[in-house]
Amino acid sequence: IVNQKGGVGKTTTTQNLGYALSRKGKKVLLIDFDPQSSLTVCLGYDDTDSLPYTIATLMQMEMEDESLPEEHSEYVQTYRNEKEQVSYDFIPCSMELSAIEVSLVNAVCREGVLKNVLAELQAAYDYIIIDCSPSLGMLTINALVAAQAVIIPVTPEYLSAKGLEILLRNILRVKRKINPALEIEGILFTMFRDRIRLAHTVEDLVRNTYDAAIPIYDTRIPYSVRSGEAVICKQSVIEYESGNQVSVAYEALANEVLAKEVLEHEADTE
Ligand code: ADP
Ligand code: MG
Repeated sequence: IVNQKGGVGKTTTTQNLGYALSRKGKKVLLIDFDPQSSLTVCLGYDDTDSLPYTIATLMQMEMEDESLPEEHSEYVQTYRNEKEQVSYDFIPCSMELSAIEVSLVNAVCREGVLKNVLAELQAAYDYIIIDCSPSLGMLTINALVAAQAVIIPVTPEYLSAKGLEILLRNILRVKRKINPALEIEGILFTMFRDRIRLAHTVEDLVRNTYDAAIPIYDTRIPYSVRSGEAVICKQSVIEYESGNQVSVAYEALANEVLAKEVLEHEADTE
């Protein structure tokens, strides 16, 4: 989940899409890959310094050629909602990740460190969702190299549509040079206010500019204060208020993501 602009709903999308996919029986791993560690805090870990392993320590170990612990359970945390019997795994983050970004510059194979960390884990999951930081630096490049697909949350304001151009150029560069398998899965409109004309103007602009080249999800995530309330309660919106329009939209997004998987599978077997 990537966009170099902050506050466009990357973390919210990671958490809710992750929850929705797990509720549908998929094995999901979320990675907090933003030094600000919002996802980690959203999942109930305020004191990130007390965690023995974070994505930062794993990246460090990989750069120093140390092997990761044998048991995944040592460094992968599990989030559980006992009431709904839903659970998924996640790897937390801490501020240390910003120091890692600096040391990546001198690392061997610096673009592929996250990919190597995840190589061990890939087989155990249907979906690994990476919550990126709001920048286009080396961390985001690592995420784009590790990923097979990109979801780009965009809020319908003019400036974020402008930034989209720069982001797309970067994604295509990574695809061309390092990760040919990378696909732009779709642009996702978030915090959409149906009654505000600007939202529609920007949506039309993005659709007219990119529709032929880049898929745009049919699902739009509406704006709702419930999103912020859920964060305070350390829950996804879906858990916080299941009938809420944002919850319903994230469930629909999960269905779109799953439908795409089926289509790709059919194409593979033809
Ligand atoms: P990012 O990870 O891109 O910085 P966040 O997911 O943290 O963005 O969202 C930024 C802020 O907007 C947060 O306070 C979050 O609670 C709020 N937010 C996210 N999605 C919505 C929504 N659909 N409606 C209203 N507020 C939202
Ligand atoms: Mg975030």
